[in-house]
Amino acid sequence: MSSKKSNSADNIIVTPDPRLRQKSTKVKAGDPEVNQIIKEMIQASLDWEEEHEFELSAALAAPQLGYNRRIIVVREDTSDKDNNTFIPLLNPEVIKTEGKTLYDYEGCLSVPTIYGKVPRPQKARIKAQTEDGQEVRIKVDGFLARTILHEIDHLNGILFIDHIKNDEKAFYKLDDRGDLVPLDYDKCIKDNKDLWPDDEN
Ligand SMILES: [Zn+2]
Repeated sequence: MSSKKSNSADNIIVTPDPRLRQKSTKVKAGDPEVNQIIKEMIQASLDWEEEHEFELSAALAAPQLGYNRRIIVVREDTSDKDNNTFIPLLNPEVIKTEGKTLYDYEGCLSVPTIYGKVPRPQKARIKAQTEDGQEVRIKVDGFLARTILHEIDHLNGILFIDHIKNDEKAFYKLDDRGDLVPLDYDKCIKDNKDLWPDDEN
């Protein structure tokens, strides 16, 4: 006998879903609805990862499950696929960005199969609340800064592809061996209505 396991990764919404383009509203720590959303976010991240052999789920934002609420969850240690701990941050805000602009690959669970080489500031100062309502200020740099800035963008209806929209050389996909290979910009990106549903003509 076999039974099909229900998989919460199916709840992750993808482009061109308009909820990915909306600005999310603030939340209150301790609100049962907020706690429920956090649970669902962590489960969906882990389920997604199980289906994607070569990829790691570093973080998720609530709009990716269709909740336009200002919540993100960030993997405690992105260098260790066996560490399944995620840190929830409520109402995260960028106070300041610093350092050089760095270019690195980004992907997004809501933009399937596409990767991009995205410019981001090297460092950021972030303000947020923890799950139990404590105010925290954190200084992040490198990959963690990139990850958190990517997730805060989601809360403002912004996707990583928006930062590289006109950069013909910035788009990639994963091949079946898990290597990133350049995408044909004119064919796959430029007039792709899934990516840019609001574009005229
Ligand atoms: Zn994303």
